Amino acid sequence: MHRFFLPPTCIQSENIIFPPDVAHQLKQVLHQREGQLVIVLDDQGMEYEVKLVSIQAHAAQGQIQIRRTAQGEPTFKLALFLCLSQREKFEWMLQKCTEVGVNAFTPVISSRSLVQQSEEVRKKYPRWQKIVQEAAEQSGRGRLPKLNPPLSFEQAVLESQINNRNAYLLWEGERARGLRQALTSIFPDQTRLALLVGPEGGFSDTEANLAVNAGLLLVSLGTRILRMETAALVASALVLYEGGEMNPQTPGTV
Ligand code: SAH
Repeated sequence: MHRFFLPPTCIQSENIIFPPDVAHQLKQVLHQREGQLVIVLDDQGMEYEVKLVSIQAHAAQGQIQIRRTAQGEPTFKLALFLCLSQREKFEWMLQKCTEVGVNAFTPVISSRSLVQQSEEVRKKYPRWQKIVQEAAEQSGRGRLPKLNPPLSFEQAVLESQINNRNAYLLWEGERARGLRQALTSIFPDQTRLALLVGPEGGFSDTEANLAVNAGLLLVSLGTRILRMETAALVASALVLYEGGEMNPQTPGTV
C-alpha cells in the first residue's frame, strides 16, 4: 500500500483531502483508482488506512477506514551529526539512514568537511527534505526524521549532548573502545544517542580532543577504515540493532 505523509490540515475527521501534488501522483504516476486503499501518516505518530473516494488530476479525497498508532517507528532516538560532503554521498546517507531508522540529521561544517559555507547548504534543504520524506514513506516510518540547520563543529559538539544526551564521535584512531562496549552503558536505560561522523579526510586531532574535553566518547568501528557514508550507515544500523529496533516487532509498536 502506498504511504504519504500529509500536513494536519489535510486530515479532517473522517475525510482526507489530498494536496494537488499528491493527487497528481496518485492518479498520473501511481494510477490509483477509486476504492483503492492507501496509508496516510500525520507525522504525529498516527497512521490512517484510507479508501480513495475521488481522484482527479489535481484533487483527490479519501475516507478514513482505520486509525492506529503508526507502525515502523523506532522508539530509540538516534541523532546523526554528519560532516558535509559531496552531494551524492550526503544524499545517500540521508536516504539510507532514514530507512534504517535515524531520528534526526544535523549537517556539520568541520575543518576538513568538503563544504565550508552554511549559505550554500541552506539552498539544499528543500531537496534534502524531499529525499528524507520519500525514504520515510517508502520504508514505512511513522514520523519524518528531523533535518536540522547546519552547525559548526564546535556547535555540533555542544548540541550533540543537549539534555544530557550521550554522544559518540566516531574516531578511527580509537584503540580501546568499540561501539558495542560503549553501548553497554546506554542500553536498556537510555533511549537517545548522538553520533558524529567525520568527512572523507576524517576529524582532526584538535577536533577529537575538543570533543573529549566536552564530554563526548571516542568510539571505534573496528580496525578497518570505512568511508564516511559506510561509517554512518553501519554505525546507525548497529546502534539500532543493539537497541532492539531491528526485530520484527519493535518495543514501541502496539
Ligand atoms: N581519512 C581518514 C578516514 C576518514 S573516514 C583516514 O584515512 O584515516 C570518515 C569518517 O568515518 C571518520 O571521520 C569517522 O568518523 C568514520 N570512520 C571510518 N572508519 C572508522 C572506524 N574504523 N572507526 C570509527 N570511525 C570510523
